[in-house]
Amino acid sequence: MSNGDVVTRPSAISGQGLFATRTFSPGEIIAPYLGKVLTSRPVKSSESSATYILEIKPGLWIDGSDIQNPARSANHSCEPTAELVLNETETFANLRASSHILPGDEITFDYGFSLSESLFNPCTCGKMSCPGKIIAEPLRPALRRHLRFIRRRD
Ligand SMILES: [Zn+2]
Repeated sequence: MSNGDVVTRPSAISGQGLFATRTFSPGEIIAPYLGKVLTSRPVKSSESSATYILEIKPGLWIDGSDIQNPARSANHSCEPTAELVLNETETFANLRASSHILPGDEITFDYGFSLSESLFNPCTCGKMSCPGKIIAEPLRPALRRHLRFIRRRD
């Protein structure tokens, strides 16, 4: 689980991405999502840091913007290779493989954005199932209905 298992480098999806340097089996912990634990909703200091704020459960957030948190580089994908799961102590999250990951594969997870958040966050993951916006998987049918509605009004 050392940082030697992953590397940060430019990604075709967006900016910097997180890549595996070894094989991970489904269910295996890739890296912890490290950061300052906050018990009140953080104020957005800038657009870029906002994407590193993780709500790990109601009323508890992690500010993962510190450079010592390699998991912060993981991009969203609509067909992710990993998922963020709450640690047993419920004080931090782990990035866990949800599929078989090979060395060189990009490690991605579902950012779980709401419908309103998705409208301002285009997705460039390039997967067949991508609706073109970053949005939580269960909400994608709602987003598609919403986008069709917009098109009908044009
Ligand atoms: Zn996508």
